[in-house]
Amino acid sequence: MPFGAPTGAVVLKPDRDEPVLRRHPWVFSGAVAQWQGKVQAGDVVDVLSHDGRWLARGFANPHSEVPVRIATWRDEPLDEPWLWQRLHAAYQRRLAWRIPDETTAFRLAYAESDFLPGVIADCYGDFVVVQLYTPAMERCKEIVAAMLDELLHPQGVFERGDMDTRLREELPPRIGPLRGVAPPERLTVTEHGLRFLVDVWRGHKTGFYLDQRDNRFRAAPYLAGERVLNAFSYTGSFAVYALRAGARTVINLDTSAEALRLAEENAVLNGFAGRVQALEGNAFQVLRRFRDAGEQFDAIVLDPPRFAPTKAVVENALRGYKDINWLAMRLLRSGGTLVTFSCSGMVSAEMFQQVLFAAALDAGREVLLVERLRQSRDHPVPVAFPEAEYLKGFICRVE
Ligand code: SAH
Repeated sequence: MPFGAPTGAVVLKPDRDEPVLRRHPWVFSGAVAQWQGKVQAGDVVDVLSHDGRWLARGFANPHSEVPVRIATWRDEPLDEPWLWQRLHAAYQRRLAWRIPDETTAFRLAYAESDFLPGVIADCYGDFVVVQLYTPAMERCKEIVAAMLDELLHPQGVFERGDMDTRLREELPPRIGPLRGVAPPERLTVTEHGLRFLVDVWRGHKTGFYLDQRDNRFRAAPYLAGERVLNAFSYTGSFAVYALRAGARTVINLDTSAEALRLAEENAVLNGFAGRVQALEGNAFQVLRRFRDAGEQFDAIVLDPPRFAPTKAVVENALRGYKDINWLAMRLLRSGGTLVTFSCSGMVSAEMFQQVLFAAALDAGREVLLVERLRQSRDHPVPVAFPEAEYLKGFICRVE
């Protein structure tokens, strides 16, 4: 094992042990009083209170903004059996949640949410795609890949190591196979019985928005019989669900021509040829054009990218959310459905609801919140780590 026994410890400043005692898994650089021992990025370290009490154990990256990611609050070794047990437990949870029924694409391991800091593993049929983004997990890449192989017997384990988090942890980007065969350019996966093409080499995240699976399923019945605008469509997953539920037509709107091509193919793959239209453009502008032209829709899905990656830009992000939601409300017929999301961790559900309130006022529409949505259940949120809850949404009726 590339790590095992602690090589040192981090001593917290006075009054900074409370979050650790409350099981928050991050030790921020501002909480660190001193390092003991010769600790290298990727080592196992103990976390001690200012008066030397043992609190927890985790993985170190002294130069990161989060210099320790806690992996256990018990005095147990962080070794190979530990890693296997965590991966195995993560898989057992997905089985208990019955996710693999009718669905071959799901998140197997979601970092802190599965008590596995630095490890994201997504299953796409016969392939597993991993994002390993701490020096500790970088060190035991081969072991993680071997364990995933033993757990799921995939054709291959593939690395999508091009996420921002890796850069922040000073790890080089890497995309490529880790074990077994390399995945084809396009994989076909099944979700709730529907089929989707996924590009794990170049697609967003690990290729597909697995976090929206439960929401696609819940939103679909509201879209039956409707003419739908699917804004920020990516590869058109909401469109395919809408069409299965009986939507008349769907316009997929995205800035990415490549995503729209896949969206078209996904519709065809599920027997909905001719029922989707692709519109390449900036949603902020296209929605304005629709408004000026007096267009109306029965239903609109708004699933924009993360507008607020940092605290500093939250205000701007809120303006952006208000702008598109206001426009969408204006474009809906009376009794129309708005399915709207924010995936900014920095924007709370309360803030997002406030945005909808302001947008409704400006649009002069009565808006009923019908359902509250969140990320799929394979992206759970530890109650001690609310930061893990980033995706929030609403199904609204606009009168
Ligand atoms: N709903 C999708 C995921 C959407 S991700 C799903 O379930 O699969 C956000 C998408 O918004 C990306 O495909 C990105 O290309 C697109 N995008 C980003 N900025 C945009 C803009 N200003 N106008 C239109 N699309 C945009």
